[in-house]
Amino acid sequence: MYKIMTAGPTQVRENVRMARSLPCTNPDLDPAFFDYYKETCQLLSEALHTKNRALILGGEGILGLEAACASLTEPGDRVLVIDNGIFGKGFADFVKIYGGQPVMYTSDYRNPVNLEEIKAFLANDHDFKYATVVHCDTPSGVINDVPAISRLLDSYGIMTVADSVAGIFGEPLDVANSKIDILCGGSQKALSAPPGLTMLWVSDRAFEAMADRKTPIASFYANILIFRDYYEKQEFPYTMPISDITGLRTALDNFMKEEETIYERHGRVAAAARKALTAGGLKLYLESGYSNTVTVLEVPEGVTDKQILEGMEKDYNIMISGCFDVLAGKVVRIGHMGENAYPEKVAETLAALQGTLEKLGIAVSCNMEDVFNGALA
Ligand SMILES: *Cc1c(COP(=O)(O)O)cnc(C)c1O
Repeated sequence: MYKIMTAGPTQVRENVRMARSLPCTNPDLDPAFFDYYKETCQLLSEALHTKNRALILGGEGILGLEAACASLTEPGDRVLVIDNGIFGKGFADFVKIYGGQPVMYTSDYRNPVNLEEIKAFLANDHDFKYATVVHCDTPSGVINDVPAISRLLDSYGIMTVADSVAGIFGEPLDVANSKIDILCGGSQKALSAPPGLTMLWVSDRAFEAMADRKTPIASFYANILIFRDYYEKQEFPYTMPISDITGLRTALDNFMKEEETIYERHGRVAAAARKALTAGGLKLYLESGYSNTVTVLEVPEGVTDKQILEGMEKDYNIMISGCFDVLAGKVVRIGHMGENAYPEKVAETLAALQGTLEKLGIAVSCNMEDVFNGALA
């Protein structure tokens, strides 16, 4: 097995893996499971310091993005799709599938969304039911100021759907001072549970918008509204993946015990990684807005992404990520979120990257592991 230092999924701690092997009750019928699910959702709200209601859906992070669009979009609705990255752009597909009319707001992929520019755009056109925005757009690693963007949208009565699948639990997000109507998270990123679950934090306003629709939600599995009264009714729309949820709960307990230090550790590790890579003469993809959960570097001239990934796997047993869509072949990515965001793991990854590049004939102008460790000290 490779050590995975990818941009999610991450490594999974032993107590999370063990929790997934606990005995299973019938999650459709046992009232104790409804209590456990509800308590876990309440802890998810507490972990992000928000009163918005959390829900756990049985399906990978992408399900949350689709469920948000399925539940809010009615045929003909204009939806603003904020696109400064590949996941940002991808929301347009979900809007279209459910009959909405996506309006793209596209800006430079190497920098965060510029607030003044989007302000000027909205001054001219603000007839949108909701907007979509990505907190950490993982293919480039860019971080957007979602709190400020959501407040700006709210000033026009536009709801916000925010994808922080690769942000939350590693990158701070002030949900309480934001106007995020549906926030999307996934089990396998900074929370470091295995893949399989979506987490959503839903505002009262979003539930009201779903309840006030003129047309029914055109999905069953991606219908958020069905979950609203699950506890009162003691009924889930489908059988909950109980073992995934016990694993997630343990990962959440781990997070809450260490919350004080987690964001700071992500920040330190990420800053040191950027410093080491830059000192080594490598070029970061972004110009600004670097996330603390993933670092994205351009593939140096003279080698391919495949050669780098294969070299690291074969010689060092470490797996990092390439990329896809418009960044396919152009960048490689080191994930340092959740369980991966420890100095030893990132140091080992940088040493392996250096060895791999040098073997491929690319000069690295410092010892990146030493610079990394020095930056942490
Ligand atoms: C990982 C990720 C998702 C979810 O994608 P999956 O294929 O379900 O893992 C959504 N948005 C972002 C920004 C992500 O990084």
